[in-house]
Amino acid sequence: MRGRAVIVTGTGTAMDIGTASGRRFGPDLADLYENWTNFTQWASQAVLTSDTSFVDDEVGPPAPRPRQVFAVGLNYADHADEGGIAVPEEPMIFTKFPACISGPYDDIPLHSHTVDYEAELVGVIGRVAKHVDTADAWEYLAGLTCGQDISDRRLQVTGPAPQQFSLAKSFTGFGPIGPWLVTRDEFAAELDIEVRGSLNGEVMQSERTKTMLYPLPRIIAYLSSILTLWPGDLIFTGTPAGVGWVRNPRITLTPGDLVTTEIEGIGVMRNRCVEGHGTAARINSDA
Ligand code: ZN
Repeated sequence: MRGRAVIVTGTGTAMDIGTASGRRFGPDLADLYENWTNFTQWASQAVLTSDTSFVDDEVGPPAPRPRQVFAVGLNYADHADEGGIAVPEEPMIFTKFPACISGPYDDIPLHSHTVDYEAELVGVIGRVAKHVDTADAWEYLAGLTCGQDISDRRLQVTGPAPQQFSLAKSFTGFGPIGPWLVTRDEFAAELDIEVRGSLNGEVMQSERTKTMLYPLPRIIAYLSSILTLWPGDLIFTGTPAGVGWVRNPRITLTPGDLVTTEIEGIGVMRNRCVEGHGTAARINSDA
């Protein structure tokens, strides 16, 4: 079923949107976002059936082909504190290149010894957004999912300013999202849900989204004052305190590690770190 849009109806069961809608919507998942408002109207009145089943391993990213992937740095005060960085006056934005987006149970290939985890809430855009007011911005979301902003810390701080944030966070497999999209009507715009990141079963990050410096509506308003947001675009909203790089002793990811990302009201994502292959290892050969 990977690549086909479904509505999850229970544990391991789903309704195929292409089949159930007579191919009016789907079966391609990315296309669904282009027609999101009509789709959600149809879905709200559809009689849900469970015509297909799935196992977790088959589930791909819930927004597989974003045109743009934005990420916010330092969106929780305690994470800014642990990095010794002053809280920014406007959202600090960088990109993860869309090629890094992967599924909720996909492996994370490691090419160096300096890779870190960042559990994050991810917003998925559902309508074209230009010059949107903060008060209206929630309506431009399709919904929310879990994400990991996997980051090679050595590359991230390499080179003269500006630092190599975007490449450091865009290795293949460095942007797992999922396990599914939960539509925005399931949440209050005054979002207060727990974001939790664990490493090999031990909770490393745990914070509530109400403590974000820039909530999603603010981020959408800010970004859309500068450029156009497109359906299916992703916004990684920043990570809470507890990343491995600034811990004492420092923690970095190694092959075999299990990174778990859990967000209240959304679900749990599990990604296993594996040995990477290819020449990227040379980037950090001194690490
Ligand atoms: Zn991040």
